[in-house]
Amino acid sequence: MREIEKNIEDLKGEMVEALKKFISINSVNPSFGGPGEYKKAIWLENLLKMLGYDEVRRIDIPDDRVEEKVRPNVIGIIRGKESGRKIWIVTHMDTVPEGDRNLWETDPFEGIEKDGRIFGRGAEDNGGSMIASIYAGVALKRAGIKPDYDYCVALVADEEAGSEYGIAPLLRKGIFGKEDLVIVADAGEKDGSFIEVAEKSIVWIKLETIGKQGHASNPDECVNAHRIGMEVALDFYRYVRKKYSDEDPLFTPSRTTFEPTRKEENVGNVNTIPGKDVLYFDGRILPKYDLDDFIYDLEKLAMKHEVEKKVKIKLDVIQRFDAPPPTPTDSDVVERLKDTIEKLRGIKVKIGGIGGGTCAAHFRRLGIPAVVWSTIDGTAHNANEYARIENLVNDAKVYAMMAIS
Ligand SMILES: [Zn+2]
Repeated sequence: MREIEKNIEDLKGEMVEALKKFISINSVNPSFGGPGEYKKAIWLENLLKMLGYDEVRRIDIPDDRVEEKVRPNVIGIIRGKESGRKIWIVTHMDTVPEGDRNLWETDPFEGIEKDGRIFGRGAEDNGGSMIASIYAGVALKRAGIKPDYDYCVALVADEEAGSEYGIAPLLRKGIFGKEDLVIVADAGEKDGSFIEVAEKSIVWIKLETIGKQGHASNPDECVNAHRIGMEVALDFYRYVRKKYSDEDPLFTPSRTTFEPTRKEENVGNVNTIPGKDVLYFDGRILPKYDLDDFIYDLEKLAMKHEVEKKVKIKLDVIQRFDAPPPTPTDSDVVERLKDTIEKLRGIKVKIGGIGGGTCAAHFRRLGIPAVVWSTIDGTAHNANEYARIENLVNDAKVYAMMAIS
């Protein structure tokens, strides 16, 4: 065990160089006008081969928008004692654009080392965890220790824009099995003390109330859409609080939330009664509830108000994500990961859910227990994004140690 930790510490220099290289190859997602992952994938494919992975495969998914006409996904496998079952560390190659260059203190497409950190676009999201997962396998290999199951890294495309050229087609091809242990290393806490096993469903609702516009001094001749819209919105809010009131201690907050958020501007002057009122709700619904039921309930409520208040109410679902059932907290992947982190770091690990929606949902939907975990400062998508070198080393230790018992 000590040998593996020592190997990883010895590999630190190589890991730093690999992360710098990762950053230097622009792989901005084509959906945001970037070149995509191809060049980075070719480098990673060769790196895995060079580092001694037993099997390296590239799976290309057609995409006419990019020069190479395909979006690559790379898989590296180190054979375990028991072949068939696999431990997967899933990370993604694509990045978001650099944003406003003036906000960057360094070149976003050059990995720069400073104060124990590596700066650049993709350093944290998701290069740091990718390099950690790759070198964890190298440390096992060099120690001559066979992992309990096959140790696999999946370096995927298109995470930042929906995963339709990444995890989604890989799952359809049956690359992942129901018995596999899956860690999506793409979110986490600064000390690595949180393992995410669940997500809430998301529903965004647009609520439009149509009344009759007129002079503010003559409200009896008008139907004030703004006043009625506020009443309806508040009724929606209270109704959800009451009917969808169950709690699930996995989540913080432990209840369903349904908050009125955006409000569209109505009339430009104070002395006009608005004939139209538009506002929006952001709903995060506990996974035990069915979103169809939830939306149906709100539609019924809207109809009741239409009849009572002589307005027209339009209800639109503008965003929807149905949360899959949570990964059981007693599943192998959760227990192995939790035990390893607690042993290596001497901290107490919290297992819980978030508001949604990560790429682990793709696995959970197919009944494959997946968790989301990594140790990061939370600089993803920001200017001056960085990864801490010590997190690369310490997360690599966690991946390697959880693969052996
Ligand atoms: Zn990411």
